[in-house]
Amino acid sequence: MSIIKNYFKQNRVTHTFSSCQWPIGDPQEKDFHFCEADTLTGKPYCQDHCDVAYIDERELKKEKEAQKNRRIAA
Ligand SMILES: [Zn+2]
Repeated sequence: MSIIKNYFKQNRVTHTFSSCQWPIGDPQEKDFHFCEADTLTGKPYCQDHCDVAYIDERELKKEKEAQKNRRIAA
């Protein structure tokens, strides 16, 4: 863990980002950039990109719930 701490210290990076870290475009292209909108508290992304980033998790949960309900119904 101390290696990571030093890394952050050296690069003057904090754990909390004040601007959205969502990558936009292709990293190979020169117009590649980050969204840089205001982030949600404790999240590296803005509201819009949190919705996108965490949708899979939510969908998985929903799918599990649906399976449970189906089993109960059967
Ligand atoms: Zn964003």
